[in-house]
Amino acid sequence: MSNELSVQVHSKHKKKFENGYPLIFKEAILDTNRLKEEGTILRLEDEQGHFIGRGYFGRQNKGYGWVLTQNENESIDQEFFVKRIQKALHYRTSFFEDSNTTAFRVVNGEGDHLGGLTIDYFDGYYLINWYSEGVYSFKNEVVEALKRLADFKGIYEKKRFDAKGQYVEDDDFVAGERGEFPLIVKENGVKFAVYLNEGAMVGVFLDQRPVRKLIRDQYARGKTVLNTFSYTGAFSVFAVEGGATMTTSVDLANRSLNKTIEQFSVNGIDYEEQNILVMDVFKYFKYAVKKNLLFDMVILDPPSFARSKKHTFSAAKDYKDLLKDAISVTADNGIIVASTNFSGYDMKKFKGFVDQAFKETNGKYQLLEDFTLPEDFRTIKEFREGNYLKVVFIKKVK
Ligand code: SAH
Repeated sequence: MSNELSVQVHSKHKKKFENGYPLIFKEAILDTNRLKEEGTILRLEDEQGHFIGRGYFGRQNKGYGWVLTQNENESIDQEFFVKRIQKALHYRTSFFEDSNTTAFRVVNGEGDHLGGLTIDYFDGYYLINWYSEGVYSFKNEVVEALKRLADFKGIYEKKRFDAKGQYVEDDDFVAGERGEFPLIVKENGVKFAVYLNEGAMVGVFLDQRPVRKLIRDQYARGKTVLNTFSYTGAFSVFAVEGGATMTTSVDLANRSLNKTIEQFSVNGIDYEEQNILVMDVFKYFKYAVKKNLLFDMVILDPPSFARSKKHTFSAAKDYKDLLKDAISVTADNGIIVASTNFSGYDMKKFKGFVDQAFKETNGKYQLLEDFTLPEDFRTIKEFREGNYLKVVFIKKVK
């Protein structure tokens, strides 16, 4: 890792990097032709040859890599990864000490000054997500750092860098002992069944932890709940735990039925008393309107982009219409929980969609709560787009 390539930063982007911006975007580099092998250590310089930052070449979405340090004397070596990961683990001390929550993020990419990789903790197991071929070239150093610093049962990985930036199907076991899956982890006392070696998704999205807790602790009691894009039904499980009278979980994917049954069952909830539907949510909205169904709480948690047989949903263009659908099946004084992980707009714009959707349906509303990423999903102010999550609780006022 000692060879480094000096690359020049365009003068108009110099300030940005000096101010701590971590993503090496294409336009910032004067001669991208010199970038050949992913994983190459880059020394970013201004046009006079002065040091700006040190990082690596790795292609991820529109990015060409990440700045890892602004300290000229810091090299990217084994000790570097030990220091960074040690800091990251230390930052999550309170999570490690809480026996009611055994699943959380320990390294959040650029938020922990390690752009391009994340590490999640699942009750003694560590799961590394690699977002480029380039960052994957540091695998030995990262795994060695975990071996030195963490007390683990096993380490797994997800390589998320095929030609389309998607998951590479593989045996994801890396080190330690193999787990027995499902692994039962806890989140604020509720159980989740997770699978660390079955494709891209493990069964739970950890960034919604505070939202699930609030639904259980303050919103669910006595309510009927419609959970759309429900995946394994995590929101439904928390709603039942909080005293919801009935949940309806809707997801298009066949796998969601068994996964949702499993999540209810590991928590001792009789899934037969809940409604679990494998179907297109847009079709379900039509059905619910036709049958005059109204819910006290409607949860919207779509992916940023999804294509079904009849419908393409893009969070960029269609969120307002999704909200209008939700409004049509929400009872007066009911709550809509609207969530998106689309990083292309901010909270203000997202709330703008809420406003438009209510205006266009002649409805009134009140914003009750909003959430961005939780503490373990550490972000830095120099990279606002890293805080992709936006969740709002909206009351439909009569
Ligand atoms: N809310 C979930 C995570 C959602 S992930 C949770 O809390 O864990 C997005 C889900 O949307 C996926 O499971 C996918 O199958 C589903 N999905 C995508 N398009 C859909 C559609 N048109 N109708 C129903 N589900 C859809």
